[in-house]
Amino acid sequence: MVGDTTESVRFGCAACCAEDVVVAQAHHQSPTGVRLESMLRDDSHFIVSVQRCGLCSQAFVSVFTEYVDWVSSRDAQYRTVLPITDAEVDDLMAGRLSLHRVGALGHNRRHLQSDCPSGADEPSVYWDSGVFGVHEGH
Ligand SMILES: [Zn+2]
Repeated sequence: MVGDTTESVRFGCAACCAEDVVVAQAHHQSPTGVRLESMLRDDSHFIVSVQRCGLCSQAFVSVFTEYVDWVSSRDAQYRTVLPITDAEVDDLMAGRLSLHRVGALGHNRRHLQSDCPSGADEPSVYWDSGVFGVHEGH
């Protein structure tokens, strides 16, 4: 590890980790693209799951957080999809890796970020990298 540079390990294939975020997002949303493997948390405002690419078997952890906006009733939604190794999947499933520490795996690793703040019409989707916060929504 030599700091958070753009020189990161390659994960996934040309579909699930496509440079073009629109291509990647389409694959992640396709029923034949990236599929749900295990549900780790399934609360209404905090959903964490392990998913796997149907093409290259790359595993991902998906963290979905929703913040209820009582004023405008348009809830803010954030989703982070981070590629993880099979060893990290095992750690997650066994509870050796807590959900709140998943964000630390973002160090030096790209993740597909989808932000839909309260009041936004369309989510903004982009490749992000670096450590991210994992917070339970409310
Ligand atoms: Zn793939």
